[in-house]
Amino acid sequence: MSALVINAGSSSVKFQVVDPATGAVRAKGLAERIGETEGAATIEQEGQGEQSTSQPFADHRAALAWVLDQLGGAGLLADVEVVGHRTVHGGRRFDRPVVLDDETLAVLRELSPLAPLHNPANIEGIEAAREQLPEVPHVSVFDTGFFAELPPEVRTYAIDTEVAQEYAVQRYGFHGASHAYVSQRAAEDLGRDPAELKVIVLHLGNGASAAAVDGGRPVDCSMGMTPLEGLVMGTRPGDIDPGVLLHLLRHGLDADELDDLLNRRSGLKGLTGTNDMREVRAAATAGDERARLALDVSIHRIVRYVGAFHAVMGGLDALVFTAGVGENNVELRAEVCERLAVLGIRLDAGRNTSVPRGRPGSTVVSGDDSQVAVLVTPTNEELYIARAAAATVTP
Ligand code: AMP
Repeated sequence: MSALVINAGSSSVKFQVVDPATGAVRAKGLAERIGETEGAATIEQEGQGEQSTSQPFADHRAALAWVLDQLGGAGLLADVEVVGHRTVHGGRRFDRPVVLDDETLAVLRELSPLAPLHNPANIEGIEAAREQLPEVPHVSVFDTGFFAELPPEVRTYAIDTEVAQEYAVQRYGFHGASHAYVSQRAAEDLGRDPAELKVIVLHLGNGASAAAVDGGRPVDCSMGMTPLEGLVMGTRPGDIDPGVLLHLLRHGLDADELDDLLNRRSGLKGLTGTNDMREVRAAATAGDERARLALDVSIHRIVRYVGAFHAVMGGLDALVFTAGVGENNVELRAEVCERLAVLGIRLDAGRNTSVPRGRPGSTVVSGDDSQVAVLVTPTNEELYIARAAAATVTP
């Protein structure tokens, strides 16, 4: 059996055909620049190289048609028994994956105002895929799902209860597929039962978040009602005094301008002009002070969250780095861990610099004298989604 995993963003569709049991990837790829005059797509099949093509995709329907055509032509759809859709916001309605039918899709549309940048694109992908693969069950797996059980004191923002109720204001948490997969995988690779581990996962990519997982269950998360809160990200600021927004509103910026500022013009991009961590790191090494400050702000925020989550859980067994920056940025791991020496964290410089690229599974980078295991664990959101989708349709 295979699962087709679809991750439809505002201008791209990522896809993967994967065996949920073994994790073997039959094919994966990306159709991008949807809606632009020049589109591009790549597909990589098991045992073959990557193939690229340039062609315009008018909309998600056209992109999905191309994807399914390629997969069908290669005989890769024959044993696809479920389609798992990465879906960002499940609101209060969906605390676990859900089989998509007209009714659940209608509820999903009602949730779009909670994630206006993400859910509408996810829904376009779902609609196109259901239309073109009607005989296979489709399942939404939510970024918020893993965090549905956050304790009430973590979920609740201290504002007027009636306002919170009316506008569904609460902490939902995001990157759930990554935090769930990585925390489980790290425990497995340490040969430990997740039920007896206190873990902090640092998902550091273009989007970034920290999660505290105690005994296999999430007990805190840096992202909030939207994916804006918490760590410094590629283009988002993370934590910011809400008074700043009032100040800017009173000075004439409107909601759309604030949205643009917070989602596209902040974080590394706002501080340095680029959201690419590689460029920021290179600039800092070359002596650029703005780049060094951006790194220091990012590192300070990470250290603050790890310290807070350590206290929230009353201890820490494993600190896990994942996603583009977490898996690849050797210097950032070293700088963060140096600041965390107070928690008994000791990195092994040799192990930290020799993490193999592209290998699934964890690499321990802490020293033998460290009181906390530090791991680099590549994330695999697609596999988590494939497994969650398959489990939802398999009785
Ligand atoms: P993601 O969103 O997980 O794909 O991560 C994207 C981020 O990872 C970007 O900021 C990249 O610059 C960063 N990244 C990828 N490779 C490296 C690397 N070798 N060193 C530093 N940052 C990297």
